[in-house]
Amino acid sequence: MLRTVFLRTFPRVYRVSACRSLTIPAPNSQPDVHYNKIFINNEWHDAVSKKTFPTINPATGEVICHVAEGDKVDVDKAVEAAKNAFKLGSPWRRMDASQRGLLLNRLADCIERDSAYLAELETLDNGKPYAISYSVDVPMVVKCFRYFAGWADKWHGMTIPVDGDYFCYTRHEPVGVCGQIIPWNFPLLMQAWKLGPALATGNTVVMKPAEQTPLTALYVANLIQEVGFPAGVVNIVPGMGPTAGAAIASHMDVDKVAFTGSTDVGQLIQQASANSNLKKVTLELGGKSPNIILSDADMENAVEQSHLGLFFNQGQCCCAGSRTFVQESVYKEFMERSVEKAKKRVVGDPFDLKTEHGPQVDDKQFQKILGYIGSGKREGAKLMCGGGAAADRGYFIQPTIFGDVQDNMTIAREEIFGPVMQILKFKSLEEVIERANDSKYGLAAAVFTKDLDKANYISSGLRAGTVWVNCYNVFATQAPFGGYKASGIGRELGQYVLDNYTEVKTVITKVPQKNS
Ligand code: ADP
Repeated sequence: MLRTVFLRTFPRVYRVSACRSLTIPAPNSQPDVHYNKIFINNEWHDAVSKKTFPTINPATGEVICHVAEGDKVDVDKAVEAAKNAFKLGSPWRRMDASQRGLLLNRLADCIERDSAYLAELETLDNGKPYAISYSVDVPMVVKCFRYFAGWADKWHGMTIPVDGDYFCYTRHEPVGVCGQIIPWNFPLLMQAWKLGPALATGNTVVMKPAEQTPLTALYVANLIQEVGFPAGVVNIVPGMGPTAGAAIASHMDVDKVAFTGSTDVGQLIQQASANSNLKKVTLELGGKSPNIILSDADMENAVEQSHLGLFFNQGQCCCAGSRTFVQESVYKEFMERSVEKAKKRVVGDPFDLKTEHGPQVDDKQFQKILGYIGSGKREGAKLMCGGGAAADRGYFIQPTIFGDVQDNMTIAREEIFGPVMQILKFKSLEEVIERANDSKYGLAAAVFTKDLDKANYISSGLRAGTVWVNCYNVFATQAPFGGYKASGIGRELGQYVLDNYTEVKTVITKVPQKNS
């Protein structure tokens, strides 16, 4: 049976086509799990220790299945496989760049073919509404692989007119073995953001998915094998951060590590690189993004976009607009409309197609967010709606809004990573730019105004890797994403990410001036 869901509530970018509706197949809320082991050399392995860990359905708190728990020795095996696959003369190193692109396109085709199943598995393991997994996450994954497939044979060097009788050119060569450590908030998409550029540019990969959400990454491993990537090009080691993750970050034979997650762990990754082999490090970390609403903004759009900018994905977005600055003359109206909207947000069973908001990913996040809500109340912010658990089982939290938030409150400084919106009042543009920048983070920001001069003034003053104007959460594979300050190092997506996955080799050849 097919059902049609109208995606009016989702931002434009998440609509799959120009048409405002998408047919979503009724989901199976109990998809079979086919892969739960370690993927090395295109084969499935138990952990050397034989240990496993449970992965939990956040909507119920029940165990979905047990997954092989990789540790340092398993990472060593995976790195060995990746190193062999990268050897000079290996099938991968000899493969035409266009063929690498073809394999990535075929991978995208297989993901598209299995999109309903992948969306079910993602929802089961992560808790995000199926309507979103199916209509947002999976299509973006497909687009991401197709985009990087296109780059495979186009990332070329230059010829350079050096002085003297020399011919000088550059080659863009793969860095080598890339460690990739990904988070749980967009498991499939973060896998695609990392694998796409690494494989397009000819690297080999050892990836660790987050321990909360390993299942879809392992299913994609199977597709990688199906489409014909040579053994050892992609290896996936599920496991814990301080063991398997740390082993990747400190490995002497890993040439680069790309990490998405918390700023605290990002610092550990950087240290591990410095203390081992100075592997290249790219980091996409936390945020406390300012979202600025000026008094002349289209209020309906500002309220709608700010709501999605914070509550989308249960607030589990590194770029969430969690400091909402509202100019004082529209503060009251913005607050009332935002509270009304938050109260109407449909929280519940993520497999119900009407659901807009599922559970937080696990008990740890659930408790942490409730702790922040408690601190907001204690420090004197005004709780306008929500503020507690939304169900008696699973990790559901009510969409929550705090008003009268002051810059020095914990909820205005630390990343909550949950459905908790902070609304702050401001008077002038100069003041709001200064306050918006007063954060250790600098991932994203937004401004809502009808005045182009004000939009330009504010967007040029903000220290953030992405600034959205009159919109929020607009992501495109073509556009780079990453952070200023403690929000990261390097950029993902777009042409810019290719720099992070390639070394530039300069070749200078003596040109004889006469034929001897
Ligand atoms: P969160 O706190 O939101 O779970 P983390 O930064 O802890 O975010 O996790 C993101 C990813 O980093 C996960 O794959 C996790 O297993 C991994 N990770 C956690 N700790 C470490 C560590 N010490 N070294 C390497 N990876 C880690």
